[in-house]
Formats: sequence, structure tokens, C-alpha cells
Amino acid sequence: MSRLVVVSNRVPSAKDSAGGLAVALGAALAERGGLWFGWSGETSGEREADRVHIRTEGNVDYALVDLTQRDLDEYYSGFANRALWPLFHYRLDLTDFSRKDLAGYFRVNRFFARALAKLIQPDDIVWVHDYHLIPLASELRQLGVRNRMGFFLHIPWPPPDVLFALPPHEELVRSLASYDLVGFQTAYDVENFAACVVREGMGRRVGDQIYDTYGRVFRMGAFPIGIETAAFAKLASESGKDDLVRRLETSLESRKLIVGVDRLDYSKGIGQRIEAFSRFIETNPDQKGQVVFLQVTPKSRSEVPEYADMQREVAELAGRVNGALGDVDWTPIRYINRTIGRGALAGIYRMADVGLITPLRDGMNLVAKEYVASQNADDPGVLVLSRFAGAARELDGALLVNPYDIDDVANVIGRAITMPREERVARWRGMYARLHRYDINRWLETFLDTLNKVEPAPSVDTGALAAAG
Ligand code: UDP
Repeated sequence: MSRLVVVSNRVPSAKDSAGGLAVALGAALAERGGLWFGWSGETSGEREADRVHIRTEGNVDYALVDLTQRDLDEYYSGFANRALWPLFHYRLDLTDFSRKDLAGYFRVNRFFARALAKLIQPDDIVWVHDYHLIPLASELRQLGVRNRMGFFLHIPWPPPDVLFALPPHEELVRSLASYDLVGFQTAYDVENFAACVVREGMGRRVGDQIYDTYGRVFRMGAFPIGIETAAFAKLASESGKDDLVRRLETSLESRKLIVGVDRLDYSKGIGQRIEAFSRFIETNPDQKGQVVFLQVTPKSRSEVPEYADMQREVAELAGRVNGALGDVDWTPIRYINRTIGRGALAGIYRMADVGLITPLRDGMNLVAKEYVASQNADDPGVLVLSRFAGAARELDGALLVNPYDIDDVANVIGRAITMPREERVARWRGMYARLHRYDINRWLETFLDTLNKVEPAPSVDTGALAAAG
């Protein structure tokens, strides 16, 4: 079996409590032996491609490089998180493109490629993750790296008219063509990508999910990411002893619980969700004092101005609704800005009668899957899910909503909270079976098997070389 090289913007540190993806990739690396490469999370005055910090655990090397503050501002906070992230989540209004940030994005990818190229062995399979690193394969190819390379995009790929608003859209597509396999979360993303390629004449379809773009033939496909389903179910069933879970249960005093869990991000639709919950209470006054909405929202990317603004707006909204609807012995919304560990989170999901997961746009949304995995098979809760989350393509037992339609979401909350047990069980069963069958390990195997079967880059990447002038 070839060695595996995983590349992602951040590499999990030994002290991180690893999420499902990190656990699965770590296990695949341990099985085959390999290397995980990425940014150390540290900034230094200057960066040198030779200064790679290597930490070895068993047969896996973790290779980390530092970035300068300027790199971070332009590549990470700039182009990745102020241009690509909003645009790929269909938020043209929040997309802030600058040529300076774009140059920083390509510069850091070139720097990563130079540092990584020295560590890659001829038979290695390289798997690059996410929107920070789209140009990495193209940069590696220009350095003569001929290995099989795959890319997986964890966020959505937008339709042509949205993508084309980004001035360097053609460079991004051209860069992706340097991979042998490009994976997306859903068939909709694949369709969007194919439409972008064909509409602008950047390439043509030459086979089933195979495209010839700028003279390079590559494969694409949908690989919907899974979770550690069995592990989550176990965590949830054993969560009764957890202190936080017990405190929550006691504090509810038999009231029903609705839960939302999202990083503080404008793509998650937290404001609209609070409005919908408020509308639900206003139109169902008998529910006053009977139900609590717990919204768990760790802060994220506070260095990006749009996130700081949103932090204030959501907090104000939650406060306003509580002020208007609450009573001396009932706070309708509990809004928490801290990260809750997986064990307690699984317990909260299990206790919640309704999982209210209503992003305006989301590549997949793992929380929706975790909520389903955590339920009690005999008395499961109901998942209310945005039709614009990738997970909606798979979780057919959920009540799907349009998160922009506040009245509809309010009505569906009412339907979920009163759903008879029999219907809840029937809806949950099919979803759990699917999540069990297609978990994170299956996802990983499917992607790597597909990558193993594609032909590696046959010759010099003329497209990328032409682009580089
Ligand atoms: N999460 C967590 N603690 C929290 C909030 C979230 O561990 O307090 C985890 C959650 O369990 C999930 C991930 O963060 O695995 C969020 O993934 P998702 O795909 O839902 O959204 P993203 O943040 O990647 O956009």
C-alpha cells in the first residue's frame, strides 16, 4: 500500500481533542504510514521552506511550517476567509476580493509546495483538503511532482454566475485541473463545478465525471462526508453521567428542549433561526414556559470584521427576544458562546426533542448527522434541517425547511415538537441506518479507492506552466 500524504491548512496538535475527520485521517495514516503536512498555527518573523518542524508518532510524521503575520492576513483571513468562504456560500454581498490577498494566497501555496515537495516520496498518494489549498497541486506539479493527487472540498461549490463574480475564477478552475481526483460534498456541487467548466469553455466532458480542462484530464465526484456514527451513538448513550448534561437536564424541569449547534458564522442562519423560534412562541402562546431553545455557538474567526459584527447582532437579537417573551421563571433562549466537548454535546443532542439545524448554505453540516446518531432508538428527537445543507441530500427523514421562510420554520418547529413517537421512530430509523452504513471511515475508503484507480499525471502539466508564464 502506498504511503499517504495528507495536507490541510491546520494539522491537529497532540493536545487537540480530535474531531471525526482528524481521527479518521489519523487512523488511515497510521495504517499505511505517512505524513500530515500543514501550517503550525504559529506566526514567525520570516518563513523559510527549510524550517519544517517534524513530530513523529509511530509511523506517521506531522510536518509543520510557520507563516508570517502578513501571510496569515492575506492568505487565511484575506483571500480564503473574506473572498472564497463567503463566495462559495453564495454571499456575494460579503465577498471582499483584493489582488493583494490573492497574491498572498498563491504565495503561501507556493511556499507550502516547496516545503512539501522535498518530503514526498515517488509512490506516495497525496490528499489535499479544502479551499485554502486549491492551487497546491498545480504548484507541486510545477516543481516536478508526478504523484497521484486528490483534492476534497469541504464547503459548497457555487453555480457559474456566483463563481464568475470572483475575478480569478479561471485560475482556480485551472488549478483544480492539476489534481487527478476532485471530490465535492454533493452531486449539486459536482453539477455546479461541471457547469462552470463547460459554460466558460474552460474544458469539456470526456467521460462519466471525467473532464479535460486546459489539456489535463481529471476525474471529479461527490463523496458526502460521514461522521463516526457508532462512536457518537455510544458517547450519547453513556452521557447521562456527564456533569454538564445532568445540570442541563435538572434545569429544564421537564420542559421540552430544542437545540442548535453552530460556529458563529453568517452561513449558519442563526439570526433567522432565533426569529423563527420567536415566531413559533408568538403564534403558539400555550408553549410559553413549556420549551427552551439552547443555541450553542462557539466564536470563530473573530479577526474577520464580518464575524465581529455578527457576534454583536446575534447576541442583541437573543437578548431582545428573551426580553420580549421571557418571564421571571422562564428564559426562552439560552445562548452560549463556548465550545462544548463531544461527550457532553452528544448528551445534549440526545436530550433535545428537536435538532434545529438551519444554515443558509452549508457544504455538509456534521451537526445534523451527529444529532441523528445521538438519538435514543426508542424515543428519538426530530431533525428540522435546512434544504440548503449538504446533509439534506441524505437525511430524508428530516423535516426540510427553507431557512429564509421564518413562518414556515416556525410552523415546522410546532410540527416537530408535537410529532407522535411512531412517526419519530420511523423517520429516524432510515437516517441512522444510512449514517451507520456510510460513516467517516467508509467515506475515506471510497475517496482513496477512487483516487487509487485514476491514472496519475502522465506528463508535464502544460496548462499550469502556461499559466505561470
Ligand atoms: N462542535 C463541537 N463543540 C461545539 C460546537 C461544535 O465539538 O461546541 C463540533 C461539532 O460536533 C461538529 C463541528 O464542530 O463536529 C462542526 O461541524 P459542521 O460541519 O456542523 O460545521 P463547520 O463548523 O465545519 O462549518
